[in-house]
Formats: sequence, structure tokens, C-alpha cells
Amino acid sequence: SKVYIFEKQFDGFPKEDDLKLIEEELRPLNEEEFLTEAVYHSIDPYMRSFAPRLNVGTVFIGTQIAKIVESNNPKFPVGRYVLGDFGWRTHTISNGKPIGSSRFPYLLPDFGELPLSYGLGVFGMPGCTAYFGFLEICKPKAGNTVIVTGAAGAVGSIVGQIAKIKGCTVIGVVGSDEKGKWIVDELGYDHYINYKMADLKQALPEVAPKGIDCYFDNVGGEISTTILYHMKPFGRIAVCGCISGYNEKEPKASPVQPPVVSRQLRMEGFSIHRWTDRWSEAISQNRKWTEQGKIKYRETVTNGFENMFSTFVNMLQGGNTGKTIVKA
Ligand code: NDP
Repeated sequence: SKVYIFEKQFDGFPKEDDLKLIEEELRPLNEEEFLTEAVYHSIDPYMRSFAPRLNVGTVFIGTQIAKIVESNNPKFPVGRYVLGDFGWRTHTISNGKPIGSSRFPYLLPDFGELPLSYGLGVFGMPGCTAYFGFLEICKPKAGNTVIVTGAAGAVGSIVGQIAKIKGCTVIGVVGSDEKGKWIVDELGYDHYINYKMADLKQALPEVAPKGIDCYFDNVGGEISTTILYHMKPFGRIAVCGCISGYNEKEPKASPVQPPVVSRQLRMEGFSIHRWTDRWSEAISQNRKWTEQGKIKYRETVTNGFENMFSTFVNMLQGGNTGKTIVKA
């Protein structure tokens, strides 16, 4: 079995020797335990933002879809697939009991024609994040203008499509024209802005002449500050993430800007854990929309556990479109 150990606290962008790949002996199973073999690993931004709270010397955090290969637990039979927060490891011994308020591990249902890996994305945490964060906090109404940053990523690409389903005009902010073309041509976004090429201050009045009602923010930083100045009074902002700052050594100046006050904006951060007991609602709705073709979903898949680290850094640098996955 192979495991990545968190060797050194990240300083700026993660470096290869911050993690160490080691071999581990597997012990025999005790009663109620089962052994899994990883099939798909999820690569997520929280692995960077949560790292300061991780203990050095422990297994690096992550969720995976794994196959049960041995079992002393009738609730987790051999051959079934489980979604677990087992960390960056190829094999795991578990007793099936969640730690704290975690939902994991849980047995995955059969997604029919759709790939099992969707359990890590549109039918998992990112899909639930898009669904609850957007619907509960942005409270979109038909005819609203919605803007999404990180719009071609795992969460953002789903948010924009839910906004279209709800009858909104949707603008996506992305880091390349290729991503922009994908969200407009394939996902049905109305406009995209490539923040690396365009001047956001100039582009916003062109695509949203009347201002913005709802902002789903995945990135924070200067992009968000600029967008705040283009919100309509009483606009709603769901603060999902601030990836633009995750690799900064020191936090930047306060993100709260005068329009938050003068335009009486409602700006609310959230953690997906708020809706832990309602996940099945989001997953079954996202599944319906995906099966009806109303949500289109893409993955960027890398092969090989030895490529976990490079895939992680590549995602932090925008190398992914849609959900980032490593196939074991
Ligand atoms: P993505 O699939 O969106 O991958 C990250 C993307 O971030 C990259 O592809 C890149 O796209 C973009 N990015 C990287 N650096 C910058 C930058 N400096 N400025 C602007 N964009 C940047 O990841 P997820 O969909 O999994 O996560 C999106 C956000 O949601 C993250 O901030 C994450 O922390 C947050 N999140 C929050 C949750 C919650 O409970 N609150 C739960 C899940 C995710 P590009 O090429 O467009 O720059």
C-alpha cells in the first residue's frame, strides 16, 4: 500500500518535497473492518486552504472512491464501492464509522449509464456545494443577472448551469478563452470574461449593463473587489472560496469594500457542511438534471497515484476544466 505523508507545511505554492510518498504494510482486518483499494481520487482546492490546520507527519487529506476488496462488515460487502475521506492512500482499512459529523464513508449507489467518478463531483461534494450555495444564499429569481467566478471549475461549472435552469442571465469569469468557449458553447452561459486577458472593469458594463443581482464567488481577491462595484443594490453574494489567495504567504487587505455598505449587499460565506443532512436532495436533483442533459459535466482525469502531487498543483494553477480526478 502507498501513502502520501504531509512532510512540511506549505509555504506559498506546494512543493514536491512537502509531501512524501511511502510504502506501508497492511495489517490483517479486525472484526467489523473492511479493506478498500482506491479507484478514483478527488483533487480539491481545500487541500491547500485546509493545510495550515493539518498536522505534519500525518496522511495528506482527500476523498476517494474505493472498491471494497476484503470485508468483515456486512454493511460494506466485497465488490461494492465506497466514498471515503481516507486521504491520499491506495489502500484503507475502515470500520465504516464516520468521524465526527462527517458523512463518510458511504456506499455509492449505481449511477447507471453515468461514470462512478461522478460521485466525487456533480453527484458529490462539489455538486452539493453548487446546489446549496447558489440556491440557498444567492436566492436567484428568473430574469436575474448572475456572475460566477472559477466558472469552468468543478463547482462553478455546475452553478452556472443551475442559474440557467432558473432562468437567469449568466456570466462566467475564467482564466482562458478555451474555458470561456466551453462554458458558453456547451454549458449555455450567456457570456464569459477571461480575467487574464480582459479588463474586468471595462468588460462588466458591456455584459451586464444593468448590474449584477447574484454573485457566486469561488476566487476572492481583486476580481471580487471589481465585481462588488458592479452589483445592484440588495445584491446577494455567496462566498464559496477564495482560491486566488490560497498560496499567498500573508492575507491581503480586507475584501469588504464600500459598495457592500452603500448598496446594502448581502454577502455570506458558507461551508458545505451546513447542509450535511440534505445532501441526498442535491444529489438526486443534480442527477435528474444531468440525465436530462440540463447539466453537462466534465472531468480532467490524470492516471496514476504517483501523479497526485503534480495534478494538485496543476489544478491550483488552472490546468483543469471541470472536476479534477486522479485514476488510481
Ligand atoms: P476548480 O475546479 O474551480 O479548480 C480551481 C480553479 O481555480 C482553477 O481551475 C482556476 O481556474 C481557478 N483559479 C486558480 N487560481 C486563481 C486565481 N488566482 N484567480 C482566479 N481563479 C483562479 O475547484 P473547485 O470547483 O473544487 O473549487 C472552487 C472554489 O470553491 C474553491 O475556492 C474552493 O476552495 C471552494 N469550495 C468551497 C466549498 C465550501 O464548502 N465553501 C466546497 C467546495 C469548494 P481559471 O483557469 O479559471 O483560473
